[in-house]
Amino acid sequence: MAKKKETDSADLKTIRGIGEKTEKLFRQAGVYTTEDLLHYYPRDYDAYDEPVRAGETVAGVKNAVFGKITAKPSVRTFGKNSITIVKLTDETGTLYVHWFHMPFLRNTLTVGKHYVFRGLVTEKNGRKTMEHPELFDPEKYEKIRGQLLPVYALTSGLSNNTVRKAVASLLEMTGSLPEYLPDEIREMNGLCEINFAISQIHFPDSRDNLITARNRLAFDEFFLFLLGVAEMKTQQEKQDCSWPMKTGWKTEEVLDHLPYRLTPAQDRVWGEMERDLASGKLMNRLIQGDVGSGKTILAFLAMIMTFENGFQSAMMVPTEVLAEQQYHSLVRLLEENQITGVNPVLLRGSCTAAEKRRIDEEISSGKARMIVGTHALIQDTVSFRNLALAVTDEQHRFGVRQREKLSEKGAAPHVLVMSATPIPRTLALILYGDLDISVLDDMPADRLQVKNCVVGPSYRKTAWNFIADEVKKGRQAYVICPMVEPNEELPCENVTDYTAELKKYYGGTVNVGMLHGRMKPKEKNQIMEDFASGNIQVLVSTTVVEVGVNVPNATVMLIENAERFGLAQLHQLRGRVGRGKEQSYCIFMQGDGRQETSKRLSVLSETNDGFRIAEEDLKMRGPGDLFGVRQSGEAVFQIADIYRDHEVLTMAEEAVKNLKESDPDLTLPQNSGLRDRVSALFQRQIDHSQSDI
Ligand code: ADP
Ligand code: MG
Repeated sequence: MAKKKETDSADLKTIRGIGEKTEKLFRQAGVYTTEDLLHYYPRDYDAYDEPVRAGETVAGVKNAVFGKITAKPSVRTFGKNSITIVKLTDETGTLYVHWFHMPFLRNTLTVGKHYVFRGLVTEKNGRKTMEHPELFDPEKYEKIRGQLLPVYALTSGLSNNTVRKAVASLLEMTGSLPEYLPDEIREMNGLCEINFAISQIHFPDSRDNLITARNRLAFDEFFLFLLGVAEMKTQQEKQDCSWPMKTGWKTEEVLDHLPYRLTPAQDRVWGEMERDLASGKLMNRLIQGDVGSGKTILAFLAMIMTFENGFQSAMMVPTEVLAEQQYHSLVRLLEENQITGVNPVLLRGSCTAAEKRRIDEEISSGKARMIVGTHALIQDTVSFRNLALAVTDEQHRFGVRQREKLSEKGAAPHVLVMSATPIPRTLALILYGDLDISVLDDMPADRLQVKNCVVGPSYRKTAWNFIADEVKKGRQAYVICPMVEPNEELPCENVTDYTAELKKYYGGTVNVGMLHGRMKPKEKNQIMEDFASGNIQVLVSTTVVEVGVNVPNATVMLIENAERFGLAQLHQLRGRVGRGKEQSYCIFMQGDGRQETSKRLSVLSETNDGFRIAEEDLKMRGPGDLFGVRQSGEAVFQIADIYRDHEVLTMAEEAVKNLKESDPDLTLPQNSGLRDRVSALFQRQIDHSQSDI
């Protein structure tokens, strides 16, 4: 095992001025060694800019102002409180300066003298005020002008000053860090040297230097990560698999019996999967396809092929509702094709202890050949006899670690991951870099595009009548509300009241049901069954139906308080309709009447294409939380931002590709530093993820 090198990583106490107590505070902030501290990058910088004149300040930010005190400051007192006020006036305009609780300033500020005032400026009714500024002697200010002082993320007890001092003395004592990036890569990508980057990220001499330093460190994060992933992939490719399979007849028969034909994309992807499974190497494949593109059948085919070869397969899904549904579709498919001996089981968190014991036993004895379940599948009590295929549906709902946990259940099974989250390619590289990616880029041909509209609450009754008309034609509808119960602080629709109101409105002519996450699992399943069978005609629900639920007879989706959901989530919700032959409709009910919201929602009514929606979302929100994946993608990086540093990411990707071509195993001497960094990084990742779930 790689032992940590003492030279680049030592105890924090070796730094001058750090004792027990400070060391402990640093630990709480996740900083254990000197190396950690060097990589504890500032969150922001405080800039000592060139001072401006009184009339030239910009409201909303910190300003430094050069001005003369022309009269004795006035002090206003309110009980115990006081404000000291100075009026700075010159030919450019006027600025009021306020200090709180510092009446003594009246006597310490010298009339007729110049000062630099530095603080936040606000503007009210055209009057600009600087609040509670720092005060400098102009000559002293001149000495620090242009400096950018680091601002660190703090945990309680650790002051910014302590961190600054610690980093400064560490930088003084650390001679030079070893440069692990080969010169060639640095030159190709215009990157600065590592010691320069580290010292300038903490104490930049200029903005340009800061950018240069940041670029290098962001590049390093991407580069090392991608290199590590590429390494993992190389290892996987070398690995022979313990589950050699042959292509069989059963899948062919199933395909012949389906009530539809696979779309060209489904057909191509199934070909890829079949080849993977029969290749003698491990399959590691992600299927990306928009909602409704028909991913499930591909997973089922792979499970059937696995069964035909005598092995077990498991499918993990994120919700109980979905687990139930996938299980029933699977059972139906097996029955329709007279495939016997599978003994499929459904494993849920809500199973009773006795049920669970029975199911566990069937899984470990190998009697159950196909297993569908929720997170319950990755619990320690579940052990498989010969798990050869691990499928994760709606992967974006699980952490990467959970997916791994499922595959660790077998002796390295084939891995199939399915996701409806359309993500830009570079992001896929970070999140799923170790997987081969198949894209379902078409839709079943019998589908009609969902018709959309964005409306306000005055349209609600019309929408209800419209739903009633659809129900008369034999179809069904979903109504989504953000809340389960009324909540005074959040004035938006809730499932409980809404269901009652809708029942009253329809007066028994329409069968209305209710679903939310706080119901007992049994109740939930019953409601879903009643909806699937058509007994319930209109289902008022929270977003528990968001992922995967498939009731093709439902043709209307009415989403209340659409402003409360992200574009991606709305797109997923809409994906619950338009799954059959009939024309479907999605009504986005906007509760807030704001123009920004209308603009955002209009993207959804203009297109049903998930990839375009993802792009628009990204454009509008900038580097915001895109489809919830930002978090999981970003956890790996300290300084790099997958969106903002898109170009750096592309550079890093290219550099990894070139390196892997010229020195696939990093055996050349100039790459030895790199090899150590990568293995250290992954050791850290593994340490972190062990406490992850
Ligand atoms: P998703 O990709 O969102 O998981 P599903 O696999 O649930 O989508 O498929 C949605 C619906 O489309 C299901 O009712 C399924 O039976 C049907 N379907 C799948 N493939 C086809 C096809 N090639 N032609 C017609 N219908 C299909
Ligand atoms: Mg699905």
